[in-house]
Order: sequence, then structure tokens, then C-alpha cells
Amino acid sequence: MLFSNCLPKVEHRLCARHVYANLRKKWKGLQYRDIFWRIVKSSNKVDYNKYIKEMQELDIAAWQFLENKGPKHFCRLFFQAYAKCDSVDNNMDEIFNAFILVERFMPIWTMLDTIFKKVMTRVASRKQMADHLRQDICPMILKKLEKAKDLCRWWHTSRGGNGMYSVTHGSQGFVVDMLAKTCTCKVWELSGIPCYHALAVMREENMDLTRFVR
Ligand SMILES: [Zn+2]
Repeated sequence: MLFSNCLPKVEHRLCARHVYANLRKKWKGLQYRDIFWRIVKSSNKVDYNKYIKEMQELDIAAWQFLENKGPKHFCRLFFQAYAKCDSVDNNMDEIFNAFILVERFMPIWTMLDTIFKKVMTRVASRKQMADHLRQDICPMILKKLEKAKDLCRWWHTSRGGNGMYSVTHGSQGFVVDMLAKTCTCKVWELSGIPCYHALAVMREENMDLTRFVR
């Protein structure tokens, strides 16, 4: 039974790390690896098309292999934004698998019961931690934003009215909509965390960045 038949309205993603492992069986070398990950992590069409062209020029058969796999299932550009998850691999599952490694070898009922209790106590301890937070955003995300806010100072912003801004650096340019909380780079929509371009606007306008995490 196909995944799309079981859950027709749910987006189905493939783990890019596993796609790369299949690509690597025939196309080895750093060049293939670097271009593959650039294709996979590109969230806007300009970058995506640029790296696709590089792969085509390197080896048209390698590009065809990726095309046959269905880029919409493992390339960030095609991901739907509602999940607010821009992850291209299934590391989260691997971490959970490691978390229940011992239990996986238990008899079925003991396994389910032990996993249930283990997950329950973990959720409870995380909730206790969250109750003591002084802000609405997770500390890790806040730390990431503070660091990025400093790095985005190289971007030049121009106000366009109605919450719209043009944000440029060298030959690169993006349009940020602060009211809709979007940027043409698509990073903000996909992850829910403001991109460098939105952060450049917030820095320029002295805005509170915690208001803009979706
Ligand atoms: Zn952006």
C-alpha cells in the first residue's frame, strides 16, 4: 500500500541522508556531495536552479537519478510550510530510536508499557522546565536568534510601506513582509524562525524579535 493512499492529505518526505547514500553508490566524491546538499537545502528557486545546473553539468545521469527520486520529497524548496519544520533528514527519528534502544528488544507488552512510561516522564520533566521559562520562546531558539541578529548586520534594508522591506547584500536581494511574516527566501515560512533578512529589518527598526517567531 502506498503512503499517499493511506494518508492522502499528509506531506510525505524522504530522508535526504538516505537519498544521498543511494546517490553515493554510483557517484562518489566531494563534488557530488557538496552540490547534492546545496540542492537539498536551497529554500529559494534561484539557488535551487543554480545548483541543479551545476549537477547537470557535472553529470547529467546523477541529476536524472535525483529527478527520478522526486525532489519534492526531499528538497527544502518544495516543502509545505504548515508543519514549521525545515528538516531534510530524519535525525529526530534516529534520536528517538536510540532513546528506546533497550526497550525494542523486550516482549511486545513490556516494550509498549516501558516506552509509554519513559515518554510520559520525559514529557513531564520537559513541561516542568518550560513552566520555569521567562519567555515564550525556547532558550535554544532565542540563543540562535540573538547570534543571527548580530550576523545579519551586513544586509541593507529599505522600507517599502505596509510592512514590506527590500533587503539586499551585494548582488543578492529578498523581499520581507513583516506583517505576513514571510520572506522570499522562504526560510521564515518553513521553520517559523525569522531569517537573516527579517532579522536585518528588526535590527534596523529596533523591533522585539520574540514577536516574530511563528
Ligand atoms: Zn529571508
